[in-house]
Amino acid sequence: MADPQLTLQISNLSKTYSNGVQALKNLSLTIGTNMFGLLGPNGAGKSTLMRTVATLQDADSGEVSFDGLDVLRQKDSVRRILGYLPQEFGVYPKMSALDMLDHLAVMKGILNRGERKEMVYGLLQQTNLWDVRKKKLGTFSGGMKQRFGIAQALLGNPKLIIVDEPTAGLDPTERNRFLNLLSSIGRNVIVILSTHIVDDVRELCPQMAIISQGEVLLQGSPTQSIDALGGKIWRKMMDDAAELAEVEKTLHVISTHLVAGLTEVRVYADSHPGGGFSPVDPDIEDVYFLNLSRGQRN
Ligand code: ADP
Repeated sequence: MADPQLTLQISNLSKTYSNGVQALKNLSLTIGTNMFGLLGPNGAGKSTLMRTVATLQDADSGEVSFDGLDVLRQKDSVRRILGYLPQEFGVYPKMSALDMLDHLAVMKGILNRGERKEMVYGLLQQTNLWDVRKKKLGTFSGGMKQRFGIAQALLGNPKLIIVDEPTAGLDPTERNRFLNLLSSIGRNVIVILSTHIVDDVRELCPQMAIISQGEVLLQGSPTQSIDALGGKIWRKMMDDAAELAEVEKTLHVISTHLVAGLTEVRVYADSHPGGGFSPVDPDIEDVYFLNLSRGQRN
């Protein structure tokens, strides 16, 4: 029998820090079972949002509900069904992966020895850390540390899992391995992947939201969002900054990238913009940059 669908409902959440930075502006999001990508540039408010949902900091106003719980008030109950991998995940460098995970399992309230052993062993295997379980965490590579971070986040079979910027700093092989692990976690829980890396979201998440300056710019499926831009993205290679400046006066430039020393300029236009531009298939970066540029224009 399929598990019932879970819903995380975030309604009108606002947060202003004491230095006056408004990190969340009346933000609302509905997130269902499966992987959800929360995409946005540095400073968008992703960590503030994730820490609030993870009950680690308070919002000024708004509501969050999950599976019948009032997340902002029933913090202890939420923590029992929550798995969280923060951006900065500290470990005791001299402790082995096995001992640390066992210790964290006790902290999570898994007090039955047999049950704990089964869970800890299972998670070390699932995250491919079984062979290094007796090694000190201080000797782990970035990728191994992140996989350990997922192992601890999965303690206690959480229904809501939050991972904050997990692939930053991983090399391509480690990143691949980590994304494969995330995608294997299961379809019966909510996994929120907060990241500024658009490809992480494209590869993993059936649903996503783009946020910037504390506001949701877009919520939807990455594939449908890409398809919606069909026939509207155009590119031209340029080697002249003056030409780019000219183009920016008349066209909606959404991104510029260096490709082999030339600048690839991509513009959004309903019909052929002329001027030597060619049509190009849209990708998730186009969705991202178009929405960010629209956000800045408003
Ligand atoms: P992201 O995770 O998307 O990079 P953050 O939630 O970390 O965004 O930050 C959103 C905004 O809030 C940024 O302008 C950041 O500088 C500010 N901010 C975050 N944490 C604090 C804090 N503890 N005190 C003051 N400002 C903060």
